[in-house]
Amino acid sequence: MDDSHDFLFSQSLTGKMSPQREKTGITAHMKILLADPRGFCAGVTTAILRLDDALQLGTPVYVYHEIVHNTWIVNDFRRRGVIFVDSLDDVPNGSRLMFSAHGVAPDIRRIAAEKSLTVIDATCPLVNNVHQAALHYEQQGYKVILIGHRGHDEVTGVVGEIPNSIQIVENTAEIELLPFRRNEKLAYLTQTTLSVTETFKMIELLKERFPQIEGQPKSNICLATQLRQEAVRKRCSESDAVIVVGSRSSSNSRRLAEQAEACGVRSYLADGAEDIPLSRFTGSETVLITAGASAPEHLVQDCIRFLQKHFNASVVNASVE
Ligand code: SF4
Repeated sequence: MDDSHDFLFSQSLTGKMSPQREKTGITAHMKILLADPRGFCAGVTTAILRLDDALQLGTPVYVYHEIVHNTWIVNDFRRRGVIFVDSLDDVPNGSRLMFSAHGVAPDIRRIAAEKSLTVIDATCPLVNNVHQAALHYEQQGYKVILIGHRGHDEVTGVVGEIPNSIQIVENTAEIELLPFRRNEKLAYLTQTTLSVTETFKMIELLKERFPQIEGQPKSNICLATQLRQEAVRKRCSESDAVIVVGSRSSSNSRRLAEQAEACGVRSYLADGAEDIPLSRFTGSETVLITAGASAPEHLVQDCIRFLQKHFNASVVNASVE
């Protein structure tokens, strides 16, 4: 996704060392806390398996947008004959087309039908639930406030279900500006991969401004996203730094990096070991490694091997339990 939060790959979000561990010199025995759970969620696993299956039947297979937001996975599928498109104009009539885990708007389904495309729908069921809730609220006469990031594939798909009855808000400032009245039928929905902490704050503010508003008490953030954030929140205070294996385009990976920074621990978003800035880890005694829901485990293991090679690191499982 293309968020307004702008930080670079492999750059600390704050650029600060954690105060309790500022040191120099190579550490002989770094400890790696390996977050559990981390990495692939069920929705991503299913989408990848379905694309693998489609490739068994031959190429090309077209995919509308990235199958999941991970650079390594997209490049690997591209190499194997998958063609990623941002417009169905680029898909020849009669081809096979996959919808990614993030889902699509009804307009895209309509165009696919008009072009006689064979559709393989890998939309995550949890995203589908948000689409269904949006339709339900509109049918009942509600205006819907969607907490999410403009331009993210998932948000674009949900908005496309009820374009005349939905408004996106990205932050608390935008909630303050909402034009609705206190007696209007209102409901809220959320993107599935947001920060739990920030989203709860926004929901509380919505309830303050519009006491009549309805919605899921705990948001529509999926359990996979919640648990990965919880693992970082619970264990990052033991760490000098957090490495989040994931791509910049991945919403849930970026939220993990932000979670660490919110705890006062510097974080690095890395597509792989090559993105880890070695010099920034000199003197680090404990490093928490996690991975976004679309990041493959072999990239996590590459990062571990990299730290083992340079810092003689040992690995300890760091579960949320
Ligand atoms: S992050 Fe959550 S909503 Fe997105 S694909 Fe995974 S399980 Fe589904």
